Amino acid sequence: MCDQQPITELLSGSRPLLSVEFFPPRNADAVDGLVAAAHKISACKPDFASVTYGAGGSTRDLSATVCKRMKDEVDLQVMPHFTCVGSTREELGEILDEFHSEGYRNIMALRGDPPQGEETFQSTEGGFSYASDLVAFIKDRYPDICQGVAGYPEKHPEAPSLDSDLDALKIKVDAGGSFITTQLFFDNAAFFRYVDRVRARGIDLPIVPGIMPVLALKQIKRITQLCQSRLPKTLEAELNKVESDPEAVRKIGVEWATRQILELIDQGVPGVHIYALNKAKSAVELMNAVRG
Ligand SMILES: Cc1cc2nc3c(=O)[nH]c(=O)nc-3n(C[C@H](O)[C@H](O)[C@H](O)COP(=O)(O)OP(=O)(O)OC[C@H]3O[C@@H](n4cnc5c(N)ncnc54)[C@H](O)[C@@H]3O)c2cc1C
Repeated sequence: MCDQQPITELLSGSRPLLSVEFFPPRNADAVDGLVAAAHKISACKPDFASVTYGAGGSTRDLSATVCKRMKDEVDLQVMPHFTCVGSTREELGEILDEFHSEGYRNIMALRGDPPQGEETFQSTEGGFSYASDLVAFIKDRYPDICQGVAGYPEKHPEAPSLDSDLDALKIKVDAGGSFITTQLFFDNAAFFRYVDRVRARGIDLPIVPGIMPVLALKQIKRITQLCQSRLPKTLEAELNKVESDPEAVRKIGVEWATRQILELIDQGVPGVHIYALNKAKSAVELMNAVRG
């Protein structure tokens, strides 16, 4: 029996959705702490939660454990992420069958990042090279699954140009993507320009902006370097001024993200996806500020 509503249906409602992203911890002992954080966040009634898919081995198993515990123990609709990394087509099919039999009807379909310690993505022999291959595979096997795909307002780091990245997005969408969730960004102007360019390609799917509050300076510098999202000079200057005071950094980060979200909602986005970094306090502050 399955009661998961397709996210596209949720996105077409009258108020913008708020969703929250979690990532599986490195070891099983930390799952209880994550579930406790999810309980606190669920009190703010996000419309759904998503759980990232680890690059391999135990992290991957923990993704499934976290999804299941959030679905069964926390009052949250859960969308698992799913990547092509390290699996053959047959193995991907088996994992997908498990997702489906567990009742998930929304999946974020991705190529995936290279496993830790590896620089570039290598497709597995007998596996897939691009997210679009995975999207087509899922669509063929389970047409009832609603698939999210990733979009990059500031270009995917490996793409030679934003134009070629938009070509790749169009292929993913045509293969069966149902909505687009973006990479994190700190400058809404970059998102609005991106939406215009996506629309100019004839892509009319809902585009959900992904927002990450800055919670710690070192951490955000590492993350923005990896995903090549630009930290605006004004934000960086504000953060640098309070560098030695972690709580002041966090406050500035949450305030900036709140302003971003309020403007995005004001401009009519169908929803906002919060990269919560598994921290309840900031996610709760953000959601309360946005929902008023
Ligand atoms: C919302 C969101 C959630 C994420 N969740 C996870 C997660 O759970 N686990 C994880 O490991 N990573 C996750 N990531 C990171 C993501 O896996 C990486 O950004 C990865 O490098 C690219 O994934 P993709 O699905 O966008 O790949 P793709 O769409 O396949 O794109 C990868 C690169 O190949 C290019 N490309 C795509 N198709 C073609 C083609 N047909 N011909 C030529 N070039 C092409 C693109 O331009 C791009 O440069 C997430 C990212 C986002 C934005």
